[in-house]
Amino acid sequence: MSTPAASHLIRLNKTDGGLILSASHNPGGPEEDFGVKFNMPNGGPAPEGVTEAIYQRTLEIAEYRIAEAQDVDLARTGRQDIAGMAVDVVDPVADYARLMESLFDFPAIRAMFAGGFTMRMDSMCAVTGPYAVEILERRLGAARGTVLNATPLPDFGGMHPDPNPTWASALMDEMFGPDAPDFGAASDGDGDRNMVVGRGIYVSPSDSLAVLAANAHLAPGYAAGLAGVARSMPTSAAADRVAAALGIASYETPTGWKFFGNLMDAGKATLCGEESFGTGSDHVREKDGLWAILMWLNILAVRGESVAGILAAHWARFGRNYYSRHDFEAIAVDKAEAMMAALRARLASLPGTAPEGLEVEAADDFAYTDPVDGSVATAQGVRLLFKGGSRAVFRLSGTGTEGATLRLYLERYVAGPEGLLADPQAALALVIRAAHAVAGIKAHTGRETPDVVT
Ligand code: MG
Repeated sequence: MSTPAASHLIRLNKTDGGLILSASHNPGGPEEDFGVKFNMPNGGPAPEGVTEAIYQRTLEIAEYRIAEAQDVDLARTGRQDIAGMAVDVVDPVADYARLMESLFDFPAIRAMFAGGFTMRMDSMCAVTGPYAVEILERRLGAARGTVLNATPLPDFGGMHPDPNPTWASALMDEMFGPDAPDFGAASDGDGDRNMVVGRGIYVSPSDSLAVLAANAHLAPGYAAGLAGVARSMPTSAAADRVAAALGIASYETPTGWKFFGNLMDAGKATLCGEESFGTGSDHVREKDGLWAILMWLNILAVRGESVAGILAAHWARFGRNYYSRHDFEAIAVDKAEAMMAALRARLASLPGTAPEGLEVEAADDFAYTDPVDGSVATAQGVRLLFKGGSRAVFRLSGTGTEGATLRLYLERYVAGPEGLLADPQAALALVIRAAHAVAGIKAHTGRETPDVVT
């Protein structure tokens, strides 16, 4: 079962919660990664207060008992009596597919496929294969074989089901090749993340969220409009511009889906997204890869334009937030932390300075007060906000034995109508130089060139 489908099942059956065994995009099992996650009755991950209470309880457990029973017959759906317990075995796809059918214009998408529209979906030997085959090929009439690597395998067939241009390189090659289909998509190990690609054009997750927000009303499930849009702080402000134009609220939260869950439970946000290939809505309380892919299909079917055409029209209307993330991996932890400490110490003195000619309007360490429960999250990343909507964000992650990863998020806003179709790295060159100049990345870490650019 995919993580979003599990979230839906919890909500649909109004259970007291649900346990999800998931290792996301890492191979799972006794010898591999083994994640156990508890989701609340709203279908979302348990907040820290609950997981902490569970942990405290584990310290007090004096005994547990194991029932000797026959195995559950997983090939047979319906109720089974297992050692006096009623166990319901459900089809993992059916309820989820029904939910998608209630949100999106399946007849319009079906007509588009019938009219010759072509698609490639790479399920990367992970969980979305059976969902994609049932929904795309059987219900929507996409050609047989549209879904690649559709059989989930315990070790993902040696693939790394992480939907980004690096790990989904086969899909990228096809989409930029001579026989590219109209639309390409991939999802991750447990089905909560997605990447979408047009013929010859990559859609960044930040742009994807903005396009979905601007066009959501074309899908029946969102025809009444959106309550608001939320994005994680490192995600570009493209969605904010859409929200402003629509006259709805926009929220900038720390990274982590639980912050979105609070906003959705309170009816403040309908769509949410993260630059790390996570997109979703209030239909569940997890990000949802196939949901995003179907929303794109719905928009393509109603508008009758290509992905490239939709992006060009979007930028012409809202302007373009050029965006890129540069990762510097395996930096010595002490050096990475010294760089961040030096940067934080200088924050107050930066406004008014103009590195590389870009005037710093504000500089801070992002903090967030949850508008629903009032909780405060601090030190979420250093932001340099330049005049005109450009910015650089610095965050450290993974301070393990392999060293730290510095993530540098770069953004530049171009209002248009000129300059909307440049190469992102070229468009961001000045912001990149300014970020390096202010933080002294090379002086602190010895590194100048990122290991990964997305
Ligand atoms: Mg995942």
